[in-house]
Amino acid sequence: MNLQDNDESDMICESQNQKGSVLVADGDNHISNKFSAVTDRMGYDVAVSNNGEEALDLLLKRSFDIVFTALKMPGTFGNCEVCGEEISINRLKARPVTTNCIACKNKMEAMEKAAGV
Ligand SMILES: [Zn+2]
Repeated sequence: MNLQDNDESDMICESQNQKGSVLVADGDNHISNKFSAVTDRMGYDVAVSNNGEEALDLLLKRSFDIVFTALKMPGTFGNCEVCGEEISINRLKARPVTTNCIACKNKMEAMEKAAGV
């Protein structure tokens, strides 16, 4: 191996160390394990969560450059905290960390408006 090969190898390691952080959040362990293994091998700092509450806790504790997540996960994530109904996929696509369905959010906003908040 000559010096040029070593330099190239160092550059690859250096660029891998500069990759960002990834949160893999999926209720299916098989999918999250495979996905985290691949992103880890690519040099990313990977955190894994298998339920919605844990994923939200991780997001509150630190930031991630990329989040790969299922929109529906085990736990109460994906269900409205007020009425318990499932939050629609369209609402979760628009606001992935929302805790209320659109009907409850609209009611809350109407009550806030009426109260002058
Ligand atoms: Zn609701």
